[in-house]
Amino acid sequence: MSDSHSNKNRFGLDADTHIPKDVPLAKTPGHKLRTSNTIVDRSALHQAQIKLKDQAVDSKALDKMDDQEFEYVQFEDQVGVIRKSAGEEEEVKAEPVPNMFTGPSYRNQKERFRFDGHKMLHHLDRVMNWMQGERFAPIHIDMGLTKFCNTACLYCYAVVQNMTKGTMIKRDALLRYIEDCGKLGVRSIGFIGDGEPTLNPALYDATVLAKQVGVDTSMATNGLILDMDRAHELLRDMTFIRINLSAGTPEGFRRVHQSTEENFHLLVENIRELIRIKKENNYQCTIGLQMVLIPECFDEVIPEAELGAELGVDYFVIKHCSDSEYKEIGINYENYLSLEDMLHKAESISNDNYVVQVKWNKIMAAGESDLYKDGYRKYDVCYGTPFLLQISGNGKIYPCGPFFNKDRFYIGDLHESSFYDMVMSDRYWEVHDDVANSVDVHKDCAIGCRQDYVNKFLYDLKNAPEHVNFI
Ligand code: SF4
Repeated sequence: MSDSHSNKNRFGLDADTHIPKDVPLAKTPGHKLRTSNTIVDRSALHQAQIKLKDQAVDSKALDKMDDQEFEYVQFEDQVGVIRKSAGEEEEVKAEPVPNMFTGPSYRNQKERFRFDGHKMLHHLDRVMNWMQGERFAPIHIDMGLTKFCNTACLYCYAVVQNMTKGTMIKRDALLRYIEDCGKLGVRSIGFIGDGEPTLNPALYDATVLAKQVGVDTSMATNGLILDMDRAHELLRDMTFIRINLSAGTPEGFRRVHQSTEENFHLLVENIRELIRIKKENNYQCTIGLQMVLIPECFDEVIPEAELGAELGVDYFVIKHCSDSEYKEIGINYENYLSLEDMLHKAESISNDNYVVQVKWNKIMAAGESDLYKDGYRKYDVCYGTPFLLQISGNGKIYPCGPFFNKDRFYIGDLHESSFYDMVMSDRYWEVHDDVANSVDVHKDCAIGCRQDYVNKFLYDLKNAPEHVNFI
């Protein structure tokens, strides 16, 4: 059917080309870069194809595969072919197949809480303020109410934050600040971080006032000295109460929290009482447990997951231990990588009313995760601090917890100035700009800081890819 032409190509190598004998050839041969000087006349070829189209193709001459059956369909002077599999006619398809549109087959489980991510998409007005270079109030503030504690948990980050027994934000300054938050439009405050919040007696009044001025509140507490006479107010006015508990047994509690086994029993009874009050009064406050995972409590994960189910709390979340930029707590993130099966087993203890969830993104920081690769953040700039601010338990304001006591980033003291004025001041915005412009998040910052998820979102927004309209 074809002539074989042997030629040298431009690299001096042999090149065989196979050209059908009856192909129309061009009069002018091709140039030397081609592998052959024989050039097909394409316009003549096109004419030949038009002629061929006029002749009916014999469909019955087509090859069939072994398991195929053809059905021939006559239309005027042409015969078409429908291909069928052998025995197709008899086959009754019982299984649902795609595109039958028969309604739901599978539904993803609704995410009740988002522990391992952010909720910035619900605050696009503040994001727009930021994009347009305007000044705006934080969406959320984590704040300590004291700088001391009544336990000494092994994993406590506060030990690197200059804890001082007896130091706490004073009642007047705290309540004035809460009012300012209402005026500014701060949406939530977590009494979380630094010392134990229940050691500050103004906690209860601050919670009630925040509700009145339209600011949501929450707290993280060791739960040991809760004023049960005022628990009603907390359960009525707080969005959630999170109990810091990293053990499911009295012995584990003594070991990890450096407390007594009696205190474990006291805490369990306090949680039971909170749940009873909540149910009796139909309060909406969420009650959860949080474990900070360190090697000393690896064996306490399953017992605590079971304890949470038995108590009837809403959730049990398991998180990594944040270490400082100087590794003062001594966390080896590699240790987490071998725990995956056990952590999945803990999650499987969830039920319809109880969520057990692992913060996989941060716990697996040493492996590949959405937020980290080999311990490096997948963003280069910290833009998150004006959206999520952190305030120390002594009333001093810094952009974030890991930067407490770093003078360069000190914004002001709630005992000396109004929070409203501070947020409007040049100093406040200079500090946030300094963080964005000067801090290297890969080496100056604690791994797994509170602003991580928000930072990743904002960084992606600032560094848009090309062709954004092609969503
Ligand atoms: S990235 Fe660094 S500067 Fe920004 S909040 Fe985290 S620790 Fe603070």
